[in-house]
Amino acid sequence: MEFTLEEMRTHLAALEARISNACKIAGRSRESVKLVWVSKFHPAEAVENAISLGATDFGENRVQEAELKFSAPRMALDGSRVRCHVIGPVQSNKLKKAAIVADCIHSIASIEAVEKLEKVCAALPGENGSGKILDILFQVNAGEEETKSGLDVHEAEAFLNEIESKGAAAYPHLRFRGLMTIGKNTGVAEDSRECFAFLRNLQQKFLANGGLFANFDQLSMGMTGDLEVAIEEGSTMIRVGTALFGERDYSKPVNDPV
Ligand SMILES: *Cc1c(COP(=O)(O)O)cnc(C)c1O
Repeated sequence: MEFTLEEMRTHLAALEARISNACKIAGRSRESVKLVWVSKFHPAEAVENAISLGATDFGENRVQEAELKFSAPRMALDGSRVRCHVIGPVQSNKLKKAAIVADCIHSIASIEAVEKLEKVCAALPGENGSGKILDILFQVNAGEEETKSGLDVHEAEAFLNEIESKGAAAYPHLRFRGLMTIGKNTGVAEDSRECFAFLRNLQQKFLANGGLFANFDQLSMGMTGDLEVAIEEGSTMIRVGTALFGERDYSKPVNDPV
């Protein structure tokens, strides 16, 4: 059963208390952490309820589901256009669709995907007819779990160096915004601290290089179970599903046109 609007309001208040508390402990401002509402497996009505509670950013794992909910522009309470983040791995043949629907893709992990996205975005109309500028993050498998996608921790730095070697003008339609990871799925949030810290160190190092990495100021890390540790370790985008929308019903994929 989906949450009612009132249930969602209550869950949001509890989550905001967690976020504020973590920010306080870390000596950070609440504004320095963006909340991305992970709406995967929840219907368009849940997205509407979230928007009415002030949500501005949504995360979806699958491109098709993102298209169903976010192809038609939605407006946030603050008058801005709601932003769609693609946070799951995207197959090569779906990159174009992802680039069209997404404002930001968090899960890029190959040079091939970067090259393809640059081509695809150059050919999209964008705001002024000269292509779409797309924000992307590189996913690192910092938790070193076999089942998780993303760059191998031991290869992430070499990968970023390779991107950098292409030169500052190589990807005019892509804005490299930072790194994303999924923490260790042990049920103990502290277990993720080390991989979150690893991610921050890598992100800071490349941000300092400027050039292609001049906008590399984002760290997408922290979910329902480990967002406090992620905030303490510098997360700028937490991706939260369960704490806002309730448990996902994986037997009911969202495939209905909205
Ligand atoms: C599903 C998902 C989330 C949200 O997880 P919750 O534990 O429900 O908050 C965050 N990030 C990614 C990449 C996901 O696939």
